[in-house]
Amino acid sequence: RKARLAELKDLAGETKDGHRVELVANIGTPKDVKGALVNGAEGIGLFRSEFLYMDRDSFPTEEEQFAAYKEVAEKMDGPVVIRTLDIGGDKELSYLDLPKEMNPFLGYRAIRICLDRIDIFKTQLRAILRASAYGQVKIMYPMISALEQLRAANEILEEVKAELKAENIDFDENLEVGMMIEIPAAAMIADILAKETDFFSIGTNDLIQYTTATDRMNENISHLYQPFHPALLRLIKRVVEAAHAEGNWAGMCGEMAGDKRLTPYLLGIGLDEFSMSAVSIPEVKDGIRNMSLEEAKEIAQKALTFSTAEEVEAFLSNI
Ligand code: PEP
Ligand code: MG
Repeated sequence: RKARLAELKDLAGETKDGHRVELVANIGTPKDVKGALVNGAEGIGLFRSEFLYMDRDSFPTEEEQFAAYKEVAEKMDGPVVIRTLDIGGDKELSYLDLPKEMNPFLGYRAIRICLDRIDIFKTQLRAILRASAYGQVKIMYPMISALEQLRAANEILEEVKAELKAENIDFDENLEVGMMIEIPAAAMIADILAKETDFFSIGTNDLIQYTTATDRMNENISHLYQPFHPALLRLIKRVVEAAHAEGNWAGMCGEMAGDKRLTPYLLGIGLDEFSMSAVSIPEVKDGIRNMSLEEAKEIAQKALTFSTAEEVEAFLSNI
């Protein structure tokens, strides 16, 4: 069985009837690229940039960040989606004195900090843009809940691009800029957001947390943290359709993308890119290669008819 999964490494993520999707990896540091390649990742769908900021006593410099992003861009043949800083929530920085909060996951985090601390944000954007001269780099903003935030982030990005141009520093002028959909408000206005982005990547870890109002770290309520909740199925479908209506692609980088029970559903609603922990790629690919898009569409339609997470899970676990 292991050998069979290894054989899959160089095969495409393609259904029996030739529908192609992209299978990419989530990584936390440049060291993880090796595992991504071994498991046949075509690219990186989520490069969590937090590692650069953690376990140290000052902000990483532009050069340090550039080196890390460039290394990944050069090692991967395919796309590399770099997510801008997603600190706060459960992730603290010793050198960034943030106030204690009643609800850290609903608090001062990610893009909310970056739009205030433009110095921090600009340094990172400069490093990412510079790395884009060395591979297929894309930028992705986390935790966007409103159009104004997307616009503000893009405005800062344009400023940084203008600065680099004035300094004659190379970057990919056509680099794609997208955002995570991990807040229900963003999912509900995905049609609006799609007009001002190149792509979405659905962050189901947080989307489940916020949709079901269930702290993803709290074990007492983990039974309410339900990936198979009909609300999640509906939200995800809506996001993919909104992206497609604008000619954009839609991916998923939360844990749901690597759960093979959900593969037929995600295929069936037209998800274009599946980003997951590298070790899950062979199994998800195997599922995709053994199914037709028509079958997946039927399964997706049926999955949407159930009323509870339990029913959805039972149905998707037995096909
Ligand atoms: C997510 O929320 O699904 C996600 C991929 O981001 P993180 O797990 O880093 O919050
Ligand atoms: Mg998240």
